[in-house]
Amino acid sequence: MAQGLKSFGIAQFFERFPNEEACLQHIFDARFGTHSPCPRCGKLGHWSRIKGTKKWRHACGKQVSPLKGTVMYRSNLSLMAWFYAFFLFSNTSIGVRAGFIRRQLGIGHKSSNRLCRMIRVHMAAMVRPDKLGGEGKTVHIDEVHLRYIANTAGEPNDAVIVLGLACDGQVLSAIIPDRKSGTLIPHLVARIRPGSKVVTDMLSGYRTLAQRGFEHIQINHSVAFHDFRGHTNNEIETYWSTVRRMLRAARQVSRAHMWTFLAEIEFKYNRRHAKHTIFEELISHFPPYGPESSRLLEERFDWSLSRRIHSDNPVSAVHSHPIS
Ligand SMILES: [Zn+2]
Repeated sequence: MAQGLKSFGIAQFFERFPNEEACLQHIFDARFGTHSPCPRCGKLGHWSRIKGTKKWRHACGKQVSPLKGTVMYRSNLSLMAWFYAFFLFSNTSIGVRAGFIRRQLGIGHKSSNRLCRMIRVHMAAMVRPDKLGGEGKTVHIDEVHLRYIANTAGEPNDAVIVLGLACDGQVLSAIIPDRKSGTLIPHLVARIRPGSKVVTDMLSGYRTLAQRGFEHIQINHSVAFHDFRGHTNNEIETYWSTVRRMLRAARQVSRAHMWTFLAEIEFKYNRRHAKHTIFEELISHFPPYGPESSRLLEERFDWSLSRRIHSDNPVSAVHSHPIS
């Protein structure tokens, strides 16, 4: 049988990553390989492995540990466990429960919980649309309440409000503090390209979108799911049903972890027509991980944390108009 490029199954996985060394070499190649300059001298290539260690040395003398600064640094799990978990996360459409990972890898409850959380954080750092829409495009906008469970005794179960934008099969979604105009409009203006047509429900918070230069269509949900010109908000509704299905499958999501689940769901949804590339993408780069970067990642999916409206691409940071 011909081996299609699209089939990367369990056999291919173990062929490519048969041991710790193969995983470590892969991480080194992804972080410091032929295309990445040495962090000290800036020159490419000329790395050699330091025998008996997990380190590499550059021609200039600089030593690096490929795991340092990644989600896998100082983990008590083997790299194979990490890679296999990346593989399992890549190959389910509904999401992975910590209990499943625990049984598959034969690890403890705490380790599997941390591993799953870290993989979601890793997904949160992957490429994401910076803006949606554009001339002649329609951006569908909606917001939903998603319930989370109490994390500590005494804290009541409650819900977060999540704002979602969909266009051409791609979505952007994040937690917002409220549904007021002063909250919604700056985020939308920062993330929708000029010239877009925008479709929302009747919520008053969206009312000033037309003043921002967008052709604005408001759909009255209480009458029908489409207006007389045949506009619907199905594109974002489809995404919400995916979100609800995956949160249901996860069973218990606390407020603190909600953004990591949103990150996973959005990441997978935006790649639903290219599922075979997910594993490859997850192991293609290992962004720095630490308290500071973790907070920045959280801000990507929880817009209630920061009053500052920032685009995801720091190079082309977008500043919204001041709100009157
Ligand atoms: Zn160097």
